[in-house]
Amino acid sequence: MKAAVYYGVEDIRVEEIAKPAIDADEMLIKVKACAVCGTDIRIYKYGHFKIPEGEQRILGHEIAGEIAEIGANVQGYKVGQRVVVPPNVGCGHCKMCKQGFNQLCSDYEAFGISWNGGFAEYMKVPAHAIQMGNVINIPASLSYEEAALCEPLSCCYNSYQAVDTKPGESVVIIGAGPIGVLHAMINKIAGATKVMMVDIVDSRLEEVRALGVADVLINSSNEDLKTRVLEETSGLGADIVITANSVPAIQQLALEIAAVHGRISLFGGMPKGKEFVTLNTNLVHYKELKVVGTTGSSLQHVISSIEIAASDRMDLKPIVTGRFNIDQAKEAFAYAASGAGLKAVIVSGN
Ligand SMILES: [Zn+2]
Ligand SMILES: [Zn+2]
Repeated sequence: MKAAVYYGVEDIRVEEIAKPAIDADEMLIKVKACAVCGTDIRIYKYGHFKIPEGEQRILGHEIAGEIAEIGANVQGYKVGQRVVVPPNVGCGHCKMCKQGFNQLCSDYEAFGISWNGGFAEYMKVPAHAIQMGNVINIPASLSYEEAALCEPLSCCYNSYQAVDTKPGESVVIIGAGPIGVLHAMINKIAGATKVMMVDIVDSRLEEVRALGVADVLINSSNEDLKTRVLEETSGLGADIVITANSVPAIQQLALEIAAVHGRISLFGGMPKGKEFVTLNTNLVHYKELKVVGTTGSSLQHVISSIEIAASDRMDLKPIVTGRFNIDQAKEAFAYAASGAGLKAVIVSGN
């Protein structure tokens, strides 16, 4: 089979390798769509602590496909079934796993990081992942591409639950990439009546305008963000602020543009060396702000995201703006890294 193999920093090679063999407790997925995530780009540029130097790995963790082979001992699935395979596989026995927070397991494995992922024609699902529930059916109304996007959507769903957007509230999302767009979509469904999308790249804001998911578009390199947000909110500030980027100054600004009783989702993590950010904690104190963080998503968030994406309340199709086959894996990475368009997906032609 063909696979895009990560050999190390800035070294991905599309190669012909052996199709994974499965044992009686495992499953083989024929990958139909695997979206390129910011995390893939970060691994490509900087590596990952779960990929020891010198080890090869197939990246890709936003995975949708069809069950191609099932081991004799695996019950409850059939060949040809359309499934998503959420990446985070918990140990199953720690406190976090038992509470349903498999994304917070300290002893996790992840497809496309510690295990081979979806940038290949086929992907093996180990027995433990099947047992932990990481093979989830795709409703008939969802395409493979849309199903693959349910993984990033589920991360935004996790953030949404933490900030608890209420009908009638205002939301500022800073960062108009695919993740920002998914935040906008889910907050609209939650009832936000004014969604403001912020970026410094006009072409990104134009993409968002075309999607119709934001009520207000702000280019913060052309105008003062705080002034504009106060204007848009009758001087009160935004009820919800989501930082969908990795810029320390934006975390500082988020506290300033939040309304009294505002909730701030520090969604984008900071790169190493930039994680100590000076915040005006008096803003948290006197405005009674809630500053929350979320990381990844649990299986419950994935299942809810699939339900939403399969309904007529959300259309994920227009988020895919770049389609590539596995031979073009490097082009897909370059496209995702360039900031042009929204989401790049590696799709299988058959
Ligand atoms: Zn991702
Ligand atoms: Zn665990």
